[in-house]
Amino acid sequence: MGIKVLTVTEQKDGKISNVSFELVTAAHKVGGEVMTACLGESADSIAGDLASRGAGKVLAVSNPALKYFNDDVYANIITELIKKYQPQLVIGPATFYGKALFGRLAAMNDGAMASDVTDLSLEDGKLTVTRPTYGGNVIFDLVNQAEGKIFFVTLRPKVLDESSGGDGEVVSESVDASLMEAKAAVREMVTSSGQSVNLNEADVIVSAGRGIRGPENIALIQKLADSLGAALGASRAIVDAGWIEYLHQVGQTGKTVNPKLYFAVGISGAIQHLVGMQTSKTIVAVNRDKDAPIFNIASYGIVGDLFEIVPALTAKFEANK
Ligand SMILES: Cc1cc2nc3c(=O)[nH]c(=O)nc-3n(C[C@H](O)[C@H](O)[C@H](O)COP(=O)(O)OP(=O)(O)OC[C@H]3O[C@@H](n4cnc5c(N)ncnc54)[C@H](O)[C@@H]3O)c2cc1C
Repeated sequence: MGIKVLTVTEQKDGKISNVSFELVTAAHKVGGEVMTACLGESADSIAGDLASRGAGKVLAVSNPALKYFNDDVYANIITELIKKYQPQLVIGPATFYGKALFGRLAAMNDGAMASDVTDLSLEDGKLTVTRPTYGGNVIFDLVNQAEGKIFFVTLRPKVLDESSGGDGEVVSESVDASLMEAKAAVREMVTSSGQSVNLNEADVIVSAGRGIRGPENIALIQKLADSLGAALGASRAIVDAGWIEYLHQVGQTGKTVNPKLYFAVGISGAIQHLVGMQTSKTIVAVNRDKDAPIFNIASYGIVGDLFEIVPALTAKFEANK
């Protein structure tokens, strides 16, 4: 018999992030009863999509005050839903959104917390989560020993398949206006030019490192990315140098990504970069140094000058579009 699970949907501008459906898959691995919290300016309009994709009872909270994500307000409302529906496990995405929200939720509900998990299972009534540590070099199973406490978990995007079908129901929830009060208000969200492709959601990522020599050569890497419909990533070296914005950074102090295909171009493969991308399914490295550490984890390595190799690859991929 499974446990009662609540997933917390990530949505932006009324578009549900793919990871939200991966959360539903995770919930069904352990859940006897699956529920999903969906908050937004008009959450009811997207809740049906969740319900038809296995999200169980979808608790839709619609309010103009929820137009922009605010962890303060979201935590208040989800805590109310937790009180009402009493889940034993609450799952959210290990994205900026989930990271901002889940620590706060766990504290407010006196719960236990595990972040960035890659799998979960239920045995003899005990919930076990799998999570990487030491930069992904050790994978361990963590058994929830916190009897009677709600377990809060964030799931790494792209480790599980998205849910596809299933009957569900939408329940419109009304919440007290006092829950919308926050210490800080989000008045506006400004989309940066590079934000059109989300690294967390991308199936293919092309990342550039210091080997590209200067910001004028970002365009070369962008062309390769465009030829593959890929998102553009970066090492910290070129972010710190001001060649590209931080939101592109992959690694320990940037994003953790898990695409099907990851291109590392002119990136040496420092451990702080590897921890953010080494679980990618296929890794292709382009580097002129045959001893560069990136080749230790690459599925395919191309030793040579990126200024010759990248245009040649781009032309090939363009021709095969
Ligand atoms: C606390 C901490 C946190 C950090 N967090 C991150 C993080 O989140 N993400 C991250 O990326 N780094 C992070 N770093 C930095 C990390 O240690 C490395 O300094 C950084 O990843 C190096 O970036 P790079 O590979 O682009 O540059 P380099 O190490 O300088 O490598 C450039 C590579 O390009 C190759 N190259 C040069 N010219 C060419 C050419 N013409 N053709 C082909 N190849 C060429 C070179 O052979 C070399 O391997 C962190 C460091 C610390 C201390």
